[in-house]
Amino acid sequence: MGRKLTKEEKEIERAEREAEREAREAERAEARREKRLARLKKHAVDCPHCGKSVLDHMTKCPYCEGKLEPVGYKPMDPEKMKKIKFVTTIVGIVAAVVFIVLFIVFNKK
Ligand SMILES: [Zn+2]
Repeated sequence: MGRKLTKEEKEIERAEREAEREAREAERAEARREKRLARLKKHAVDCPHCGKSVLDHMTKCPYCEGKLEPVGYKPMDPEKMKKIKFVTTIVGIVAAVVFIVLFIVFNKK
């Protein structure tokens, strides 16, 4: 059956394919949205002060400004913070020294 499709039929076919693709994309977008929502829900807790739904990593309720205890997250203790700052500074200095040395070595020629 080698019946040629008329221009109109081709047009319809194309439109159908387009609609199909759009539907698939919408489906995917919906799935993504739901996934995100589920993730948000998993992290939603009730504020102990006002009872509104807040996220479990928040340290302050956005509704009543009440202090929250973040779940699975501990505020960095100052000692650790100092250590990290110290290490970062050292790494920065070493990187700078290495850079300067390399600069001198390559400029000697
Ligand atoms: Zn609150």
